[in-house]
Amino acid sequence: MTLQESHSVRHYRLEDGLVSIVEVEVLDQVSNNKTMPEQKPIHPCQKCGACCASYRVSFYWREAEVKDSAHPVPQEMCEDVTQNLRAMKGTNQKHNPSCIALQGRVGESVSCQIYQNRSSTCRNFQASYEEGKHRPRCDEARAKHGLKPLRREDWLMLKEDSLRRLDFEKQL
Ligand code: SF4
Ligand code: SF4
Repeated sequence: MTLQESHSVRHYRLEDGLVSIVEVEVLDQVSNNKTMPEQKPIHPCQKCGACCASYRVSFYWREAEVKDSAHPVPQEMCEDVTQNLRAMKGTNQKHNPSCIALQGRVGESVSCQIYQNRSSTCRNFQASYEEGKHRPRCDEARAKHGLKPLRREDWLMLKEDSLRRLDFEKQL
């Protein structure tokens, strides 16, 4: 069996922070010349980013204070909205809000520039059905950007793809 590898850098939204990893796409060239690509499963949020470009992302002002937070939101990316609240720049506007820290293209491929330092508002925003529950705010954000709502099946498929990929790698 001959293996071919192609590499591309992707950003993964993981609970312990944004990491850049080199994705290895393995092409299994079997004797009958059939090529079977095995793509690494991608978290739906990495292909979305709609919530970061739909709502005002505000949080308690102290989350951006170095002395008060273990992972402070960078102040240069925030603006004051009330005495107690700060918001991510770019999100406190009526038309076409978009967070200053959002990188990439909504609905295609996105990442958060300050993933490890994002606010509690970002951390607490949940994708629909990721934890088994319907999240209308996720649906609304996606709809604003012409994206279909996530379904329960999308997460099952992601899980199945991950397991399949794991099995495939074990066989190598
Ligand atoms: S800080 Fe990051 S996760 Fe939060 S709204 Fe901005 S881009 Fe999205
Ligand atoms: S709108 Fe929903 S699917 Fe899209 S990035 Fe936000 S939480 Fe994830």
